[in-house]
Amino acid sequence: MQDFNSSNTVVIAGPCAVESEEQMEIVCKTLKSTGVRYLRGGCFKPRTSPHTFRGLGEEGLKIMAEMRTRYGLKIVTEVRDTKHLDLVAQYADVVQVGAKSMYDNDLLLACGELKKPIVLKRNFAATVKELVNAAEFITMQGNSDVVLCERGIRSFENSTRFTLDLCGVAWLKKNSDFPIVLDPSHAMGFAYGIPDLARACVAMGVDGLMVEIHPEPEKALSDASQQLNMRQFVEMHESLKPIAMAVNRHII
Ligand code: PEP
Ligand code: MN
Repeated sequence: MQDFNSSNTVVIAGPCAVESEEQMEIVCKTLKSTGVRYLRGGCFKPRTSPHTFRGLGEEGLKIMAEMRTRYGLKIVTEVRDTKHLDLVAQYADVVQVGAKSMYDNDLLLACGELKKPIVLKRNFAATVKELVNAAEFITMQGNSDVVLCERGIRSFENSTRFTLDLCGVAWLKKNSDFPIVLDPSHAMGFAYGIPDLARACVAMGVDGLMVEIHPEPEKALSDASQQLNMRQFVEMHESLKPIAMAVNRHII
């Protein structure tokens, strides 16, 4: 994946879900002001309950594409079903396979046919070895541009949404060659913990950091509790720079 190399920690930020052009404008202006290059935003949202917002679908992808044109940002968005893959790939610079899809062999194989980077999120009940196996479904089809994302696993602890498995990250760094992105937002589930966790992630010397941000988190249609507002994001982003330097990386 472009920009992913051992001297950078690449920040990928944006809302949980694309909700409107106005929302995305505010997010993109903030990303531009901080020098962030990758915009995330879900358009096809896998949800635990069918009664919650499931994304704008293609309308959301069009908003993302417009943001790429206006702001020069790269678009990271999730595909949750093979039937949407061509559509998503038409708009995305980077295709995300979500935690709930990590075991979807057909989706992984189909992503292996794409000529685009894939961010593969670890299922919250998967071992790191299973994550690597899932990534190999993609690479065996010819697409070697796969990035692994640790986003929290389910443990006995239920005060936080999930538990960020930094030991697993250390294992992956030693035992696999895939670049690694850490997502503290889904792991923590609450905005108050994200800046501290993000700093811990950067201190791990990983290739990327994915964070959910929203202009008005309390009004977000999905994952409202865990999204940082713009001010919180800018402050956090600034604080990551010296930590990255300490592990010989640059925040971009
Ligand atoms: C997401 O990144 O929007 C998402 C749904 O996360 P996960 O697949 O890790 O639950
Ligand atoms: Mn989310």
